Amino acid sequence: MPIIDYFFGLKKISDLRRNQYLQRDELLKIQERNLRVILDHVFRNVRLYYSKFKQNGIKPNEIKKLEDLAKIPLTTKQEIKNGLQKNVGYVLNKNCNPNKCRISYTSGSTGMPLRIYKSREDLYHHWARQAFAFFECGVKFRDKIIRVLFPRERKDYWLQKFGILRIEDVSINQPIHNIINKLSKSKFEVLQSYPSVYLLLSQYIQNCEINPRIIFSAAETLNEKVRREINSVFNTELFELYGAYEFGRVAFECDQHCGMHIISDHFIIEVLRDGEQVSPGEEGEIVITGLHNYTMPFIRYRIGDIGILSDEFCNCGRNYPLIKSIEGKIYDFLKLPSGQIISPRNLELKDIEGISEYQIIQPRRDKLIVHLVKSEGFSENSIIEVKRNILSGCLGEEVDISVKVVESIVRGQTGKRRFIISKV
Ligand SMILES: [Zn+2]
Repeated sequence: MPIIDYFFGLKKISDLRRNQYLQRDELLKIQERNLRVILDHVFRNVRLYYSKFKQNGIKPNEIKKLEDLAKIPLTTKQEIKNGLQKNVGYVLNKNCNPNKCRISYTSGSTGMPLRIYKSREDLYHHWARQAFAFFECGVKFRDKIIRVLFPRERKDYWLQKFGILRIEDVSINQPIHNIINKLSKSKFEVLQSYPSVYLLLSQYIQNCEINPRIIFSAAETLNEKVRREINSVFNTELFELYGAYEFGRVAFECDQHCGMHIISDHFIIEVLRDGEQVSPGEEGEIVITGLHNYTMPFIRYRIGDIGILSDEFCNCGRNYPLIKSIEGKIYDFLKLPSGQIISPRNLELKDIEGISEYQIIQPRRDKLIVHLVKSEGFSENSIIEVKRNILSGCLGEEVDISVKVVESIVRGQTGKRRFIISKV
């Protein structure tokens, strides 16, 4: 990789570090400028958005300010999935070569994973935001980060080639004692996982030598009670992160812990109810527009989380706006026939053709009922794959799995998604 690439990567981090302290009106100007550039790009180069704009009589140059954004219809995950299925080029920048992109998948916790394409340029932004958020929360160059998460492929990025921000992933798809064993034997300063995994670990680690300096929590609802419990068991400070596979790191908490700072020169976050913007402090559906992902753009994308924005200023001096809270996914733990408790994340499905959403219900320790919503390409094989995936998540225990095809997955009153419901 040419040395100039490293330089660009570091430059992006330094831009983020500087921009976060700009005045709000200056940040807004950058955000609106970036919005105009990406809208012009998607209109000219991405068929999905070209068609959307044409159908709705929208000319990109009519959208100049944040208020104008509401003229553009929302984009759903299913829309992008259908586009990918039809023709990969339909949702990607027509000038990019999909074969040269890095492909990753969204988590399968709320339906089936979505394939995400990122060019080298996108990845620099992605990594720069990731590293930036870590540094802002007190992570040091030489710290080692262990992430306990759903197993997925990962490649070292440019900083790590210099031994900076070393990351080791530990799969949650194994008995909790194995995870604890690995953590006790490793030397690391930073731990990242999901609240549900921390709660599970906290039941076992009292007498273990696991002392991270910083812990990060992401991807699930973190309420105050859970936060206090995690802080006390690990005897350290927890920082919440917000992101998505589609976008990478979107927001991070600073040491004032009064919400998460949105990286607003890279994203626009709207909170809507019935399609209308709600006031700060009110709960609604989160819709994200990525301002720097040029390969696979997401404009007014329904990410599927519920959240609350804040119009307050943080005492830390950063002027990046705040998300007060995210009411993301809600999970139950599962108890297997042997009594072993597993993280709900063990049962996330991989990319299986023919399935758009699913939900798992555990009526007894040895029984799981899977509700599936079909999509194009569904066959008997889809069901076999689902069963195989779930069985492997149950760590070899004898569990009866039955599959029921349904029209839709029932959501909670606030729209919160419950991907696993355990009645055990
Ligand atoms: Zn702050």
